[in-house]
Formats: sequence, structure tokens, C-alpha cells
Amino acid sequence: MKKSVKTILTSATAFILIISSLLLSGCATTGKPDANGSEKESENGGSEAVTTTKKPDIVFPETIDFDDEQAILTIFDMSDILDGVTAKVNKKSKSITMKASVNGTNFTFTVGLTKWAGYTSPEQIVTCSKLFWYCYPQMFARLANDGSPTSVFLNFENEGYEVASAGGNAVHIHDQWLHDHPSDFDCLTHEFAHVIQGGWNGNFSPAYEGDTYMIERFADYCRYIYAFDKGRYNDFGWDLQTASTENTYYKSVRLWVWIDYTYSTDKIDIMKRINKYVQAGDRSAISKNWGTDGPMWDKVFKGTEAEGKTITELWDLYTASSFSKLSTKPRKVGDRSALEREFDVRKTIKGRAGDVASYVNLK
Ligand SMILES: [Zn+2]
Repeated sequence: MKKSVKTILTSATAFILIISSLLLSGCATTGKPDANGSEKESENGGSEAVTTTKKPDIVFPETIDFDDEQAILTIFDMSDILDGVTAKVNKKSKSITMKASVNGTNFTFTVGLTKWAGYTSPEQIVTCSKLFWYCYPQMFARLANDGSPTSVFLNFENEGYEVASAGGNAVHIHDQWLHDHPSDFDCLTHEFAHVIQGGWNGNFSPAYEGDTYMIERFADYCRYIYAFDKGRYNDFGWDLQTASTENTYYKSVRLWVWIDYTYSTDKIDIMKRINKYVQAGDRSAISKNWGTDGPMWDKVFKGTEAEGKTITELWDLYTASSFSKLSTKPRKVGDRSALEREFDVRKTIKGRAGDVASYVNLK
């Protein structure tokens, strides 16, 4: 099992996480790498007060009481995001299981509160559930392969990884994370993307000097494109870094947003191809074949305008474009960023996938 060590600094404490590339463990790819190459959480994560999405007539209780099933069902109303979501309260296992059929696929989403200590508010837990129904079926419809699960668990736990992690079809979020960083809901979009990846094997994914970089770049690409409510919560505290800060092809998230925006078409989905070839894990996809001019990229780009170009050549084209420089941070919460105003990135990319987002009430 291939392992790497990543240091994650939070505002208060530094944690060292042993990350297994097979298990897609703890993630905090929310900020700029510091001088030591480790990752810092966003400077702004949590500093901006954000009103969570809710119906005006719902009053959220201070806690979730499993003896009061009706009160739980009242707040776990997903209808402002998606119609037809049913919810069931499981008192014994302290969990809420939601089900819905979306675009012909039956999804199950279970919120686990066994290790919840009450730091994450009931309203935040409901918003996290809405985020799942907003982003997961969209990502699934576009990017899923055989290894992508339709049943997903989200456990709020006052223990374990400081931020969040994913393994198989279960996502953990630390109970204190949203309490301390109340706008950082989209760390879960990143984790749900890892679930869609379905257990990428680091031995068969793009790597640079032992860093299986594409595992995290793919999840952060998804975080940007499928951020809850068009980036309402995400964009102020978490931005796509420019080519001057994420200054190599293997560090850059924005490069992949640009490659997908520029070269994918209605018929050829570059990100779906990457997910497919890595998930397949066959011998042709071993890490060395994902080098800057490796044969796997020929397969990924075949039939697009990027066909025949190496990753290094694409990087040079990217860094020469204004796409690599424009800010993704809006002036205030809810505004569009300079990048979105010029390129309309999310709408363009989601639009190619047909109407997979049309069921979502929050477009
Ligand atoms: Zn991650």
C-alpha cells in the first residue's frame, strides 16, 4: 500500500495525517500550500457569516432528539433542493436515512449521529444533507463508473480527522469543523467526490515523484464545479488558486478546470475519462503511463483539440491564458467572481452534461 504524509495546519493546531492513497483518507485541500509544501486551511474559511439555506417557516431546534421523530422529519425536509426525498429516523442507531430516485438512479443517504457531540448545529446538519442531494446525484450522473456507490453515509463525529475524510461510501466530518468554520460546507463536496472516485488506487493514477496528485486535484475540481448553491458558501472562503501560487501542473486545481472547460465537448468528457481509466486500474494505467507525455493522456484527450499535446504543453497554454489569472473570489457572498463573469465556467461545464442538474431546485 502506497502511503504519503501530508501536514495539515489548522488555525489552532497542526496535525499530521497518514494518508493512504487506497483509502482516500483525510482531506483539507482548502488553501494555499505554505513554504514547506504543506496545506493550510483557507484564511477566510469560517470567518464570513453565512445564512444557511432554509425555509422561513422552519425553526431549527438546538438539538436533535431521537425521541421526537416528528421534529426530526420536519427539519429534514429536502424539498427546496430536490423533490421526492423521503426520510426515516432510526432511533437505535441515531441516524436519519433519506432516499430518492434521481434520473433513474436510486440513492440512499444516511446521516449518522452516534458520535455527534452537538457542536455541529441541527441546521448545519440539515444543510449538509441538502448539499449531498445537490451535488452527489449531479456528480454521479456525469462522472460515476461501476465503482461509484449509490448509498452514502455521512457521519458527524467528535473524534478522528480534524476536517473530513472519505473511505468507501462513508464520509466523516469532525463535529467541531463547521462549528468553528461555519461557511465551509463544501469540504463535503470534496469528500463526496472521493466517494464518486470509488477508491482510486494510487498505483494506477497520475503521479509526480510519488505524489498521486490527481486524487486530490480531481476532488477539488469537483468541489469547484459542484459547490453548493453555485458556490454561495464556497467561493468566499475557498478559491481556485492562480498559476502563480499553484505553479506546477501537479499542484494546480485550476488547470483541470481549464482543461475541462477548454477541451471537453458535449460528446467527450475528459474528467469522466480520467475517472474511468483510473478506476479500471488495469496494467495500462500504472502511474508511469500518466507522466507528462505518458500514453494514458493520449487516451484521455483522443478526439479533442488537446489530442497530441503533452501535459507540459497544456500547462504552458494554460498559464498564458487569462483563465489562469482571474479571481474566483466574489466581492461579497453570493456575487459572481471575475472568472465566472468572463467564462461562465460552471454553467458551461454542467450544460455539456445535458440536463443532469435540471432536477435540482437550486440551479
Ligand atoms: Zn481529499
